[in-house]
This record gives sequence, C-alpha cells and structure tokens, in this order.
Amino acid sequence: KISKRLGRISEYVPFGSVVADIGSDHALVPIQLVTSGKVNRVIAGEVNDGPFQTAIANVSRMGLQHRVDVRKGDGLEVVKEGEVSVVIIAGMGGGTIVHILAAGRNKLSGVERLILQPQGDADRVRLWLGENGWMIYEEDLLMEDELLYEIIVAEPGVQSLTKEEEEFGPILLRKSHPLLQVKLQQEIEKAERVLRSLERSNGEAAEKKRKELERRKNWLQEVK
Ligand code: SAM
Repeated sequence: KISKRLGRISEYVPFGSVVADIGSDHALVPIQLVTSGKVNRVIAGEVNDGPFQTAIANVSRMGLQHRVDVRKGDGLEVVKEGEVSVVIIAGMGGGTIVHILAAGRNKLSGVERLILQPQGDADRVRLWLGENGWMIYEEDLLMEDELLYEIIVAEPGVQSLTKEEEEFGPILLRKSHPLLQVKLQQEIEKAERVLRSLERSNGEAAEKKRKELERRKNWLQEVK
C-alpha cells in the first residue's frame, strides 16, 4: 500500500493527464496512477542507477511497461517539450527542486500543473514559482510518522507573495490549515534551540546571530 504522502500527491493529478514523475525512485506514484485508472501513461525519470533499476523492476513486476516509461536522466531532460501536462517532483530538498525546474524551464511550456513536495526550503520553491510565471493553486500539509510534509500545486499564472506567504504558503495561511500551528511551533522551537546554543558564545558574529534569531522568533509569534 502506498504511503499517505504519496497517496496525497497522487490525488492532485487530474484525470487523464500525461504525467512525468521526476526523481521517481521506486516508481510507486506512477504505478499508483496507472493502476487506479486515473491516467494512461506516466514517465518516471531517475538520474541515479540504483533507483532507476528499482523503478524498472517494480514496473515490470506489475506488467506495466507499456504504461510507465522509466527513463534515465537528469531532471526534466527525460521529457520532450509538450510531452506531458503534469510534472511531479517530490521528496527532494527545495533547492534541488528549484534547480530541476530552472534547468528544464524550456520543457515546461506546455505543462499545465506542477505538483511539488519539497523536503525543506519550501520558501525557495514558492519564490521561484512566483518569479517564473507560476501561481500556487492549491497547497497541503500532512503528518506522517511524526513528520510534516508540504505539497505545493502550481499552474501557469501571475502572483507575488509576501515573506510570510513564501515561508508558510499563501493557501495554507488563507485556509488556516490546522497543521500550520504545528509547523509554526516547530520553527519557534528551532529558533529557541539555536538561541540556547549561542548563550555562551561571545563576539560580534554570535551577537548578530542572536539578534537575527530573536527577530525571527518574534516574527514567527506574530504569524502564529
Ligand atoms: N519521488 C519519490 C518520493 O517522493 O518518494 C522519491 C524521493 S527520493 C528521496 C529522491 C529521488 O530523486 C532519488 O531517487 C534520487 O535519485 C532522485 N533525484 C535526485 N536528483 C535528481 C535529478 N536531478 N533528476 C532525477 N532524479 C533525481
């Protein structure tokens, strides 16, 4: 059975779309999408040999070779322009996701939806989207095995975000998503932890860092 996180990602795929899952690893999302009948065809991209072989093995064990096309390559280089309508990039750091999107920008012209699930640095992803002709259409936050996961769904459009929206998500904030309080609390505790670790440090750099963290903590408390 597919995890809650991967299941939730699949829910944001519209019926009948042609999907590329970049960094597919086990290819569980592509397999779920075609076996559920939601889509006919998925491209699973992988840059590393180990996960690439796992994807091929899982797909052939299910007899889905004609519907899940496992391709080896870096980021969006595995898809042709206009080939897919939805791109999923999940389970990677926000910086890596931005790198893949920026490097493959020319492949995104016909894409109608991005489904992104950054592990950290979601603000970098939202900033990139806003600056590159994408607007955030839906957002989700879920807890699995005591970890919080963010999902960002974007479609072509125009938007500009405040600092608050960049870090915590315009839609999550608007909806007052129940798990947002948990996320804010975690961020406050993170700032407090670093502040405590700086207690015994002297010098200008430590002082500067302390001021910065105090400011962040106050800001987080206001957002909350
Ligand atoms: N997407 C799956 C998920 O959410 O469960 C797998 C996440 S796994 C932690 C990240 C995968 O992305 C790894 O299998 C890694 O090889 C792959 N990856 C990292 N950078 C990549 C890139 N530039 N292009 C394609 N795959 C990449």
